[in-house]
Amino acid sequence: MLVIMKLDSPRPDIEKVKQKISGKNCIPHEIPGASKLGIGITGQTNLLDEEDFLTMDCVDEVIRVTKPYKLVSREMKQEDTIINVNGSFVGGSELSIIAGPCSVESRQQLFDIAGELKEMGIKFFRAGAYKPRSSPYSFQGLKEKGLEYLADIKKELGLLIVTEAKDTKSLPFVAEVADVIQIGARNMQNFSLLEEVGQLKNAILLKRGLAATIEDLLMSAEYILSQGNFNVILCERGIRTFETMTRNTLDLNAVPIIKKQSHLPIIVDPSHGIGIWDKVPAMALGAIACGADGLMIEVHNQPDKALSDGFQSLTPKNFKLLLEKLEQLAPIVNRKITDYERIG
Ligand code: PEP
Ligand code: MN
Repeated sequence: MLVIMKLDSPRPDIEKVKQKISGKNCIPHEIPGASKLGIGITGQTNLLDEEDFLTMDCVDEVIRVTKPYKLVSREMKQEDTIINVNGSFVGGSELSIIAGPCSVESRQQLFDIAGELKEMGIKFFRAGAYKPRSSPYSFQGLKEKGLEYLADIKKELGLLIVTEAKDTKSLPFVAEVADVIQIGARNMQNFSLLEEVGQLKNAILLKRGLAATIEDLLMSAEYILSQGNFNVILCERGIRTFETMTRNTLDLNAVPIIKKQSHLPIIVDPSHGIGIWDKVPAMALGAIACGADGLMIEVHNQPDKALSDGFQSLTPKNFKLLLEKLEQLAPIVNRKITDYERIG
């Protein structure tokens, strides 16, 4: 259920409504960024009566949210959510481009790649310090040391850091360095991890699980919002199907469907989605054409020597060619790619 307050309601009125909600054993959530203040209600809302709120002077409207996910739904908030990641925005008219290697491999590797990306105007730098791998024998990441190098990148190059939290144990360390905490596909339904990131202020990049439906993804996002963190970016990264010619099947259907169902920004990771480097640009362009708010692309300066996902990584040179094409495409879908235009 959603209670819409009258325009410019004073704080005591808002608190009165919230108290009434709590008094009925439900949880009130102020919906940030909505043009008129909305107070979302979760819990046993079937026991609530619209009249309880409509009789209050300060209440404009009461809306029943019919979807199983509540706080993430468009019914709860009509405007697109634009997330402020320490001064850079995800959602809205600007495309957000997150780029970097799959894993942190060494200080040198990280600075070489980050340096080239910064020169291209990229603001969001990705690299995993904790790597959840399918095989226990594969490279598991540099862990704390990797975070240290990422912190150096942030300090010395001023890039925003996107890096994965693999479990609740390492989360506090990741949260200290990450501007955006990535929850990987394998952890999309790790509900204790979702609840913990829900209590943080960092932006969260939630990747779709390998065999998760769109509704599963939205329900996982709901876990995070229900704990108070509304800074959630969704990410389509491909799902498992019977197809064997590609690593995954990038489900671009998810983009317009999620845009309709949710106010949260949705970006696409075509690197994991298709898993073949020279096909990544085509899928990246496709993702933007169908309305994605941005992309996450794996970039490596020596893909053949990469410790993970080299085969799907673009070289900086090929990544730059993709940026040039994105620059041409962006205005056709009413978007801007300012990071890149800035350097011309
Ligand atoms: C990654 O981004 O490198 C990664 C491991 O992604 P996913 O969780 O989508 O497999
Ligand atoms: Mn990867």
